[in-house]
Amino acid sequence: MRIVDCHVHLTGPTDAAEALQQMDALGVQRIMLISETERVSLQKTRENLLAAKKVFDGAPDRISGLAWVNPVIPGMAALAEEALTEMGFTGLKIIPDHWYAYEERLEPFWERMHALKACILFHTGILYGYDDGSRFCRPLWLEKLLHYPNIRFAMAHISWPWCEEALAVMGRMRAAAGYDKARWQSYIDTTRGTPPHIRKAALANAIEFCGPERIMFGTDGCLPGRLAGQKWHIETDLAIFDELGLTAAQQERLMAGTADELFPPKG
Ligand SMILES: [Zn+2]
Repeated sequence: MRIVDCHVHLTGPTDAAEALQQMDALGVQRIMLISETERVSLQKTRENLLAAKKVFDGAPDRISGLAWVNPVIPGMAALAEEALTEMGFTGLKIIPDHWYAYEERLEPFWERMHALKACILFHTGILYGYDDGSRFCRPLWLEKLLHYPNIRFAMAHISWPWCEEALAVMGRMRAAAGYDKARWQSYIDTTRGTPPHIRKAALANAIEFCGPERIMFGTDGCLPGRLAGQKWHIETDLAIFDELGLTAAQQERLMAGTADELFPPKG
């Protein structure tokens, strides 16, 4: 089965050869590699993007970049545009860092991303970092993006503990698109988060409500070095999919097809 991991962090110096070696050992065909986090500096963000670019340029068919940007850093809209149009990133990664997505000050950024048809992976759910930042990461605040219908976005971690709220946002966005699948803006990234006692229910509920074509597999693995956990994530989730009675085609859509569609290879 084709496996695509939509959520891998770059945490230090590495190269495509090292990444591919690990991916091959784990049977993973493609990853979305997220550049390193930077909360305040435009210049440091640019350096992080260039470091990620160096890695994915070595294997653009199997490693795709997500540019981690903080939209409230002055000048970030232009850098995000450069990342998408010139550097070869397939999408953006954003954590709402002590701002709410619905704030007026974010509107020029969303407007620019709408013009670019940007695809964005948002951290949603409890946040183990960024001080006391979780409250900014509720899925509901992303409802604002219905005013920017060319933006596609995924809610990471099934937004745990707000998994039901994430599904409500999925339904809201589906309705805002007039139930037209081609215009439906939102997706769910199943990267944990969710603890074992609710994993099966969280996946079952999401699949039932949104369909497998809106849901994609991820692990929060790290490069260099810490991709090995993918094996456990793959096996555990596939076992759940079997228990839920999903067909092979549905399982492959969840494990690869959705991420391939939202974040296609570039270059
Ligand atoms: Zn992550």
